[in-house]
Amino acid sequence: MTSSAETHEVFNQPPFFEGTELFSLDTPLKEAVAREAEWALSKLDAYGKRAGSEMMEQGFLANENKPVYHCHDRFGHRINQVDFHPAYHQLMAATINEGGHSIPWTDNRKGSYTARAAIMYLHNQVEAGTCCPLTMTFASVAALRHQPDLAKEWEPLITSGVYDPSNKPWFEKQGVTIGMAMTEKQGGTDVRANTTTATAIENEGPGQLYRLTGHKWFCSAPMCDAFLTLAQTEKGLSCFLLPRWKKDGTLNEFYVQRLKNKLGNLANASSEVEYRGAEAWMVGQEGRGVATIIDMVALTRFDCMVGSSAIMRQAVSQAIHHCSYRQVFGKTLIDQPIMQGVLADLALESEAALAITMRLATALENQQQDQHEARLARIVTAIGKYWICKRAPFMINEAQECLGGAGYVEESILPRLYREAPVNSIWEGSGNVQCLDVLRALQKDPDTLTAVQTEIGKAADKHPLLANWLDSIQSEMVNQEDMLPRSRLIVEKLAVALQASALLQDGDSKIADAFCQTRLDPQSRGQLFGALPAGIDCQYIIERNKLA
Ligand SMILES: Cc1cc2nc3c(=O)[nH]c(=O)nc-3n(C[C@H](O)[C@H](O)[C@H](O)COP(=O)(O)OP(=O)(O)OC[C@H]3O[C@@H](n4cnc5c(N)ncnc54)[C@H](O)[C@@H]3O)c2cc1C
Repeated sequence: MTSSAETHEVFNQPPFFEGTELFSLDTPLKEAVAREAEWALSKLDAYGKRAGSEMMEQGFLANENKPVYHCHDRFGHRINQVDFHPAYHQLMAATINEGGHSIPWTDNRKGSYTARAAIMYLHNQVEAGTCCPLTMTFASVAALRHQPDLAKEWEPLITSGVYDPSNKPWFEKQGVTIGMAMTEKQGGTDVRANTTTATAIENEGPGQLYRLTGHKWFCSAPMCDAFLTLAQTEKGLSCFLLPRWKKDGTLNEFYVQRLKNKLGNLANASSEVEYRGAEAWMVGQEGRGVATIIDMVALTRFDCMVGSSAIMRQAVSQAIHHCSYRQVFGKTLIDQPIMQGVLADLALESEAALAITMRLATALENQQQDQHEARLARIVTAIGKYWICKRAPFMINEAQECLGGAGYVEESILPRLYREAPVNSIWEGSGNVQCLDVLRALQKDPDTLTAVQTEIGKAADKHPLLANWLDSIQSEMVNQEDMLPRSRLIVEKLAVALQASALLQDGDSKIADAFCQTRLDPQSRGQLFGALPAGIDCQYIIERNKLA
């Protein structure tokens, strides 16, 4: 493309990526959806068109215009209000209208988890901050169902498909969003150290109204209509649903103190809050707060995998696009052998992240009817969250480098993707916590290890490197001593094996073979992306992952 500037011709620059259809051109994603949820293809086609064009633009606006907190109105009334750019609300509405926060709760067709994950995969690519409240709203239903009377009242509002951002009581709205507040100053991982207290207003027990006093150090999306939260009663840590407004139509004693000044995730307001006798209903059994809220946390952890896979996908799409047009030393970058290795390696990482994420979507959907799937759902959530969320920052930086200086400036989406990347590994349980969770799952139910090995074993006869890898996992697991210091290594090994297995079972055979050659043979690859063994068909891998 050539055009005239005042002093020179502008040439050797790629055309805009914006306007690219993010679903219909995404072969790995389309294949995953076609396999599990064919009925969702046309809906996703339409969503992918919007995501690649108007939503992409809204994503930039929502991040450039950060949310602003107003504690009082101009007459001095306390309002606890966060104002967002209109683009933020447009993005929220886009997904809520399409059921990106609800499909598995409202649609019992096969593949509902896959269809929803695909919507969120598209949404995360263009704006990840809004995905925080969307995720929490979706996941809240799993915890709320521990308290059927509350679920009966709230679930229809949560899943309604209406986005209403106005600052008014939930019972005046057609649709609500839900947040989650567990972390306190003295402990985020160790929520049992929570000091917030809850005292019954009249009767004690599940479904009853309590007064909560204390604070939460992180409360993202404080404009949500209610929050699943934790507080101590005499019987221990319990789960509560705390609405922003009380039943009498006055503001609840929920005070936003300030917004966090964050590295990334800038469109999303994350706050510190205080409860000064805030009213909240107990959800589930008293003293079983962690057991109740963990059902929500499991789903938000799954969405961390969706989110990290998505931003990796967007990064590699941008890198391939740029290199398809940019020439250096008279030759297009995509034709230069070293660059081919880098792009192909990044694409393999992206496909593998999607494969394990979509495998987990299926396991989550089938976990009620099938014990193998239930065991997989339990452990792959922790394995996948650990691995994919940790790979994302490293991988996105490499994709950024493919664009050279253009990948470092804010007009490009790459800097934002890079800043988004670390959050998914930190929130909802950081890396070591996921490793501890894997060990806990293995200890609590020894058949979980059999389930993972069976899952990997389903594809072991398709590739000798996976068969060898499975042997090495088995040897690693025979020794039950010193599991803690070895846990990161064990989780890594399981993660790549599960990725290989998912690709070999359901993915493209050439991609699966390249993944095994590059990930399961320690002799044949370097530490960084792009150091591939000879013989990998890089052009095929790149072509398959090219969007525009
Ligand atoms: C942008 C953002 C938004 C957030 N939004 C919310 C929200 O809406 N609601 C909410 O409740 N929380 C939220 N959080 C908080 C987040 O979930 C916590 O920060 C996280 O769980 C870690 O807790 P912590 O910060 O107290 O770190 P700590 O618990 O102090 O942990 C520090 C480090 O120690 C590691 N660690 C912990 N235990 C062990 C162990 N036994 N062995 C080895 N290592 C260990 C952890 O993995 C971590 O790396 C948010 C965080 C961020 C960054």
